Amino acid sequence: MRDEVVADLEWAAEYWPDLIEMRIPGTRRPWRQTELTPEVIAERDERDRIERFERSRLSLGASPAPLDISVLQTVLDLLVQADDLAAQVADLLGYEELPPPGPGEMDARPYLLFVARRVLDVGDELFVEHVARIARTMVDRVAHSLCMVYTGQALDVECPWCHQPDAWRVRELPGGQVAIVCESSVVCEPPTREVGTWWGGRPVWPIQDWERLARHIQAAEERAA
Ligand SMILES: [Zn+2]
Repeated sequence: MRDEVVADLEWAAEYWPDLIEMRIPGTRRPWRQTELTPEVIAERDERDRIERFERSRLSLGASPAPLDISVLQTVLDLLVQADDLAAQVADLLGYEELPPPGPGEMDARPYLLFVARRVLDVGDELFVEHVARIARTMVDRVAHSLCMVYTGQALDVECPWCHQPDAWRVRELPGGQVAIVCESSVVCEPPTREVGTWWGGRPVWPIQDWERLARHIQAAEERAA
């Protein structure tokens, strides 16, 4: 649970702009370099902090499309939760609190990343578990919002196993799991260790596996280049 809490918070932060900007998950964010050194993380922390003050790209008025009302509710709920958690962590560890979001400001990433970097320094195991539960709910809500908006969308990648372009779709599976499914017209059979699960004979990768999947795509593209 201790490792998962950080991964969940970082995941919610990574997909935050997709939630706000209504971008199709998978076309841009999942396929990026994910191995971050401590220096890069510190730099990004600082950058996020500066961006919060200098930039209002993520503010409500600047959104390129009106947000779906239930997505907006998710955004607002998570922003409040992230701000609260960051304040609690700051309080427990004796850091100065981050400034609260300004009016119309909807960027939860500085708070999520602040908590992700420091929550494991909090000695209170019950508190860490409390944060872990909230972080997992955040992942579920972000995933469902993205899925609700983008379900059925094709991802702009070639499946590295069946080599079909545009075969991957975002789907909500029975049970509410959000996943990428390879809906290739040919048989797609990744090796067992590379596939999250199967659904109707098709390989499926739950949204939490997308980082790993992204690294695989990158490696395949590099080999091809
Ligand atoms: Zn495939």
